[in-house]
Amino acid sequence: MEFDDIQTIAILGAGNMGHGIAEVAAMAGYEVNLRDINEEFVQNGYEQIEWSLGKLAESDQLSEEEADAALDRVTPVVEMSEAVSDVDFIIEAVPEKMDIKKDVYGDVQEYAPEEAIIATNTSSLSITELSEVTERPEQFCGMHFFNPPVRMQLVEVITGAHTAEETLDLTEQLAESFGKTPVRVRKDSPGFIVNRILVPLMNEACWIVEEDDATMEEVDSTVKYDIGLPMGAFELGDQVGNDVTYHVLEYMHEVLGEAYAPCPLLERTVEEERFGKKTGKGFYDYEDGDGADVPPDQTREDVKRRLLAVMANEVGNLVGNDVAPAKDIDEAVMLGGGYPTGPAKMADDYGLESLVETLDDLREEKDAVRYEVSDYLRERAGEGGFYEQGDDADVEFSTIELEYPGDMVGQIVLAREARMNTVNPEMLDELSEAIDHFEEDDDVRAILITGKGNRAFSAGADVSGFAASADPLEAIKLSKKGQETFGKLEESPLPVLAGIDGFALGGGFELAMCCDLRLASERSELGLPEHSLGLLPGWGGTQRLQRLVGMSRAKEIVLTADRFDADTMYDYNVVNEVVPNDEFEERVHEAAADLAGGPPISRWLTKRAMLRGWEDTEAGLDLEAQAFGHLMGTDDLMTGITAFMNGEDAEFEGK
Ligand code: NAD
Repeated sequence: MEFDDIQTIAILGAGNMGHGIAEVAAMAGYEVNLRDINEEFVQNGYEQIEWSLGKLAESDQLSEEEADAALDRVTPVVEMSEAVSDVDFIIEAVPEKMDIKKDVYGDVQEYAPEEAIIATNTSSLSITELSEVTERPEQFCGMHFFNPPVRMQLVEVITGAHTAEETLDLTEQLAESFGKTPVRVRKDSPGFIVNRILVPLMNEACWIVEEDDATMEEVDSTVKYDIGLPMGAFELGDQVGNDVTYHVLEYMHEVLGEAYAPCPLLERTVEEERFGKKTGKGFYDYEDGDGADVPPDQTREDVKRRLLAVMANEVGNLVGNDVAPAKDIDEAVMLGGGYPTGPAKMADDYGLESLVETLDDLREEKDAVRYEVSDYLRERAGEGGFYEQGDDADVEFSTIELEYPGDMVGQIVLAREARMNTVNPEMLDELSEAIDHFEEDDDVRAILITGKGNRAFSAGADVSGFAASADPLEAIKLSKKGQETFGKLEESPLPVLAGIDGFALGGGFELAMCCDLRLASERSELGLPEHSLGLLPGWGGTQRLQRLVGMSRAKEIVLTADRFDADTMYDYNVVNEVVPNDEFEERVHEAAADLAGGPPISRWLTKRAMLRGWEDTEAGLDLEAQAFGHLMGTDDLMTGITAFMNGEDAEFEGK
């Protein structure tokens, strides 16, 4: 089967996950048969989709027409024969019970076309075992969405022992066409990637408390305010459901052995039916108590080290067993677990050798196998980290140049001067690498992006390849790739300044929009000419511009496809500062140096809180409060206050 052949999808199970997946598929333009075991359940799922689409339309994430059209594409059904007899792809999201799933596959097998692919949304069951119930194990794989599917970006695509490469490719393409980011899980291993990191971390948090090494408040305070995860470990456990965590852990225990034995504290919590928020009581009391009220000031270094060490060991196990490379693990856990940095990078930053030492000490002190250091972790600790510790000389780029103009500024120069610094896929790859490179460099505190020469910052996407390929799927991929690369700037812990001298058009303008600040020379011209080419701004321009300038101006800029001069763009709130042409060079470096001199931790946390708040004010406010608490413990705060009292400029160290 070719990807283009996928037109109709059956979703089996209209519960929590099923209705969400159906909504995502319908929004992406697929015909969807949503099936549950009776009218009431399937109707319930359908109504939830209707409600959710309404909400998206209310917040302008979708037009009313698009919402109606998406709902029209969903057909609620009860009969299995009707649900699957004419579909190309089947996603199963029925309850997490082997027996139920096996029954369902028996029926699917009977009615579904031979070439249809079957994907399961299981969180914990064996993909291989499930696939063997069907007569098409090579056309079977895992497609693990996160809750709620409409909001969560990650899809783990899991291979079973018999899954064909083509099945995985098609499933990944399908996830991409849903607007999601697939990460491949290369082995059918319990917990896949995200749960394999999150669940043992939860278990270790329990062990710390069970063994009286720290209190629950200290553990959660450390996880939330020092490690910087979105929630404390116990807070998250209560949110997910302790029964769910326990269930996944039990399965890991069964398959992977003693190291994953559930901690008695977790067992007791589940036995007493303290499942968490949903039952009113979990580790915290949501009925009679204050719920998860995590103190910001009870962080402990020993707790942090122990949790990071256990997490690093899981990364070692996953990479060592070829389940996924470190980069994929980091991407998956950031998207699926909301981590600010992936676990491999976090461990590298802390120092793998010191984490290995911690594990060795715990292994001896506690005599517990869960601290046994994985071979791969030990090997990488010897090499300095999970990631290659490349020195500057190793970094070679052809479409951009990296410069270090001093004052802790890392400069990326877009360097395709002959083509007006237009952006092509290679430049996207290199940009992404350059951002990582600067983020890893402790001597870089701000990123400056400029264009080579004085004609253009960047005149847009390099459209020369577009007409030739004319392949919609390739175009979607390119759009996603640009969105993701540019999005990295928005998410970067470093502040980013765009220095615009000349044209910033189309993709070049979209790149500048992702920077934190924009400074432009008087001769600069900015705009989105995509409509004059019959295209649309596909690298975030339909989303970010209205946030910067308001909907009315955004529409003016996109719909007229005009070029606007720097002064007008200053009036429109796009450009922060306009400078005379001959002062551009000096001023842009001065502004970047100013940014680099700010307090690194405050700036990072502020950027994160602002970004999250864009999408969801409540989440942004939470993050802001958390970050505020976090800053209380930093040396930078002392430095800043002392300097202020003495009437001096602070020299922040980022500690
Ligand atoms: P759920 O209980 O909310 O929904 C399951 C639905 O399947 C119910 O509506 C049920 O009536 C229906 N069902 C039962 N037998 C069926 C059958 N034979 N044919 C069609 N439908 C049938 O469960 P859920 O939370 O949506 O979980 C579904 C799957 O997704 C599970 O495998 C679970 O592990 C996985 N998952 C859940 C989450 C989560 O956070 N809830 C996240 C990722 C994956």
